[in-house]
Amino acid sequence: MSKTAIIIGAGPAGLTAAYELLIKTDIKPVIIESSREIGGISKTFNYKNNRMDMGGHRFFSKSDRVMKFWTDILPLQTRPSKDDITLNRTINFPKNQAEHDPQTQDNVMLIRTRLSRIFFLRKFFDYPVSLSFKTMKNLGPARLFKAGFSYLYSAIVKRKEVSLEDFMINRFGRELYNTFFKDYTEKVWGVAPENIPADWGAQRIKGLSIIKVFTSAFKKVFASSKNNVSQKNVETSLIEKFYYPKYGPGHFWEILAKKIVEKGGEIIFDHKVCAIETTDNKVVKVSAKDTNGQSYDYAGEYFISSMPVKELIASFDKKDDKTAQIAAGLPYRDFITVGLLLKNLEIENDTKIPSVKNRVPDLWIYIQERDVKIGRLQIFNNWSPYLVSDFENTVWIGLEYFCNEGDEFWNMDEKDFMNFAIGELEKIDIIKKENVLDSCLVKVEKAYPAYFGSYNEFDTVKNFTDKYENLFLVGRNGQHRYNNMDHSMLTAITAVENIMNGIKTKENIWQVNTEADYHEEK
Ligand SMILES: Cc1cc2nc3c(=O)[nH]c(=O)nc-3n(C[C@H](O)[C@H](O)[C@H](O)COP(=O)(O)OP(=O)(O)OC[C@H]3O[C@@H](n4cnc5c(N)ncnc54)[C@H](O)[C@@H]3O)c2cc1C
Repeated sequence: MSKTAIIIGAGPAGLTAAYELLIKTDIKPVIIESSREIGGISKTFNYKNNRMDMGGHRFFSKSDRVMKFWTDILPLQTRPSKDDITLNRTINFPKNQAEHDPQTQDNVMLIRTRLSRIFFLRKFFDYPVSLSFKTMKNLGPARLFKAGFSYLYSAIVKRKEVSLEDFMINRFGRELYNTFFKDYTEKVWGVAPENIPADWGAQRIKGLSIIKVFTSAFKKVFASSKNNVSQKNVETSLIEKFYYPKYGPGHFWEILAKKIVEKGGEIIFDHKVCAIETTDNKVVKVSAKDTNGQSYDYAGEYFISSMPVKELIASFDKKDDKTAQIAAGLPYRDFITVGLLLKNLEIENDTKIPSVKNRVPDLWIYIQERDVKIGRLQIFNNWSPYLVSDFENTVWIGLEYFCNEGDEFWNMDEKDFMNFAIGELEKIDIIKKENVLDSCLVKVEKAYPAYFGSYNEFDTVKNFTDKYENLFLVGRNGQHRYNNMDHSMLTAITAVENIMNGIKTKENIWQVNTEADYHEEK
C-alpha cells in the first residue's frame, strides 16, 4: 500500500470509507477515533448483556447499493428468530442461499416489521396520525369537531409558509397541529415550531399530508409489500419492513471494523483530532490527542472527515473569521437515553398483532403527553429478541430525552436522572417503580445537527473546505446534514470513488441526500 488515507471517526461513514478503500484501491486507511467504541451514534451499548441503541436504528435504504453492502456483510435470516418461533409467525424468508439461522448463528440480519404509535391522553394513536375510527374515539367528540373544522379551514385559507408552524397548520389544521405536533416538536428541538423555518418542515415531514396518510392506508389494504425492504416508492415515515442485525446496529459496525483490520486497515482508538495543518490547497497532516493529552501527528495523501464540521473548522491552522464564525454557530441537539430492565410493563397489547406474553407490539412509542419530558420510548424486545438477556421474563426499554449539552438535563446527576425518568413513566401509567430491576444511562453528544443558528450560511463553510482538494467531508455531523446511516455511507462511497477517479469536485458528495422527501423522521 503506497498511499495513506487518514479517516476521522469510526462511525458508519468512516468505516464505510475505510472498507471501500481496502476493497477498491491500494490506499491504506487509518481511522482515528476519539472514543473507545465502534459505530458512532449507530453503536449498540451493552449493559450486562442487555443491548440498546442510541435510538433504535432501522436498516433501510432506497439505495440498492447500500442494501447490498449490508447484506454482503450480514446475510439475511432464512430461518425464524426466537419470537417468530414463539408466535408461530410465518415470514417469507429469502430462498436460494445458504441457511442463516439466528437461533444458531450470530452474524445474521433479521427482517423486522415496524410498528410505532403515539401515546397521548394515556391512549395509543396511529403513527403517522390517521383519521381512523380509533383516533376519533380517542380524541372524543369535542376535540374531533374542532380538528375537523380547523382542518377544513386550513384547506381553504392557506397561511404564508414562513415557519414550521405555518407549514404544519396548512397540512393538518390548527387543532391537530396543537394536539400532535406543537409540543412534541419543541420537546425534540428545544425550539418552538414558530421559530423554525418552514423549509425545514418540508424535509422533516416530507411529502406527508392527510391525503397521503389515507392513500397509504388504502394501498396497505390492496398491496402486499411483505418482503420488499427497499420500498422505493414509499414515504420514509411509512416504511414498514426493515433489516436489523441480530445484536443491534453496533454488531454490524463491529463486524465491518474487524474486516477492515483483517484487510490491512488500522483503527486508532481514544485519539481525538484537534489540529489540521494545511498548505495552500491541501491538508498535510492532522494531530490527535490521546486521553492523557499527548499529541500525535498523522500525515497522509487523503483526509476523510466525519467529525462534526463545527469542530473540524475550529481545528484548522488557517481560516478566515467569517467561516470560523459560521461554523461556530452551527447548532446541535443532544440526547440522553435511559435503559430500564423491567419485570413487565403496565400497558398491554390492545392491537390484533400477536405478541410475546401479550406485551405491547410497538418497537418505539412517541410520547406526546404534555406532563412529561420523555420524547420516545424504545421497546428493545421488539427490535430483536436477542438484544435482551432474559427475553422471556424481562422487558428491556429505552427512554429518550432530547436536550442540549450543558443544560439542566445534561448536567443532572446520573442516578437522579434515572429516578426522574422512572418517575415520568410511572406518572403516565406505563410502568410501576417496583417492577424496575436495573437501569443505565448513556449520553450522546451532537445526535442531531440542527438547521437553524448559522446554518443558512453553511455554503461559506462548504466552499472553504471544498478548496482543499485532498479533504472529503462525509457523514452526518461531517456534513452537518440530517444523514441516516445509508446517506452517511453513500457520502463515504462517493468520496472514495472521487479519490479513485481523480475527481476534484466535491459536489457529488454534497448531492447525496438532497432528495427533499427522504430524511429520518423522529
Ligand atoms: C436517535 C437517532 C435515531 C436514528 N435512527 C436511525 C435509523 O433508524 N436508521 C438510520 O439509518 N440512521 C439512524 N440515525 C442516524 C445514524 O445514527 C447516523 O446517520 C450515523 O450514525 C452517522 O454516521 P457518521 O459516521 O456520519 O457519524 P457518527 O455516527 O456520529 O460517527 C462519527 C464518529 O466520529 C468520532 N469523532 C467525532 N469527533 C472526532 C474527533 N475530533 N476525532 C476523532 N474522532 C471523532 C465519533 O466518536 C464517532 O465515532 C439515527 C440517529 C439518531 C440520533
